[in-house]
Amino acid sequence: MRSFVYDQPAARVIFGMGSLDRLPEEVKRLGAHRAIVLSTPEQRSEAEDASRRLGDMAAAIFDRAVMHVPIETAREAREVARQHQADCYVAIGGGSTIGLGKAIALETGMPIVAVPTTFAGSEMTPIYGLTEGGVKKTGRDRKVLPRTVIYDPTLTLTLPARIAGPSGMNAIAHSVEGLYAQDANPIMTLLAAESIRALSRSLPIVVTEPGNLDARSDAVYGAWLGGTVLGSVGMAIHHKLCHTLGGTFNLPHAETHTVVLPHAMEFNRESAPDAMRIAAEALGVQNAAQGVYDLAARLGAPLALKDIGMPADGLDRAAKLATENPYYNPRPIEYSGVRQLLENAYYGKRPA
Ligand code: NAD
Repeated sequence: MRSFVYDQPAARVIFGMGSLDRLPEEVKRLGAHRAIVLSTPEQRSEAEDASRRLGDMAAAIFDRAVMHVPIETAREAREVARQHQADCYVAIGGGSTIGLGKAIALETGMPIVAVPTTFAGSEMTPIYGLTEGGVKKTGRDRKVLPRTVIYDPTLTLTLPARIAGPSGMNAIAHSVEGLYAQDANPIMTLLAAESIRALSRSLPIVVTEPGNLDARSDAVYGAWLGGTVLGSVGMAIHHKLCHTLGGTFNLPHAETHTVVLPHAMEFNRESAPDAMRIAAEALGVQNAAQGVYDLAARLGAPLALKDIGMPADGLDRAAKLATENPYYNPRPIEYSGVRQLLENAYYGKRPA
């Protein structure tokens, strides 16, 4: 077995249907008394529900979370907390809302209770993103890791198929790249395989039987594990490309992950045979890249960059940006291979 370092940043996890009922006691458990509830404008009603449950411990609702965490929004939310003498945040929503909580925690060190309502996995990572002057910076800091995560699968019931599918594929992407990470370790490999297994069996049911709570619970479980992998080991070309495409061409986050993943796997296929074998077994297929592509197709998720806003004349630029700074990947990164990968993703070709 390869040598490895295992250093797991852990949050307390409360998992189960109806577990949102435990919110007040979990806030108290942190020694906090006044919480600001964060949400997007679309999820204001979820924030109001959380606030009602908190009763006297609810200081205010801040419902202006948006994608990419603009620094101005994080500052406004910090100011609201200062005015209300808050001592903790409850972030209820997807990666954008939890990302806002992290940006605030980075400055203030205040504890976050995360209540995820998508499958993005951000709640399990010490990774934050912050956009200032149009440029998104990302970093790692344990201060931003939520202290407590409440996974209540019933909160995903309102997630429509068009968000649920790509969101779950985003979690699969964390797990796939965790399998061939430079600092991979056997525990994260187990979690990654289990995450791919849980998500690939549950997501097709989530999108066809929206009320099936067992499938939603299974998908939340897979997302938890995928997020844990992302938070514990380094990523490679897939995450790098998605970051570049999202930041440069403003492509939607989860959909970009969905489209690029099979092509990044095809790119790495020969250089990461063990990872591909484990992923294929977890997916129940022969070829992991094809398996992921076929899964996205079954979910009715986008398959081509051209369908999610990528301009055809942006491929050269994206390939250049993704290859100009060296970073770890099992297969060495070079322009022509990455340009081909992007072209395959642009047209949504099934991996050969
Ligand atoms: P999101 O948080 O942007 O949510 C997308 C939309 O879905 C929003 O309008 C939201 O209000 C709505 N929504 C969320 N849950 C819902 C529900 N249950 N019912 C109905 N509507 C719901 O989407 P996301 O994919 O979860 O997060 C994407 C963002 O998260 C990106 O900015 C990405 O960079 C970040 N992210 C960060 C990490 C990390 O570790 N730092 C990991 C994954 C994603």
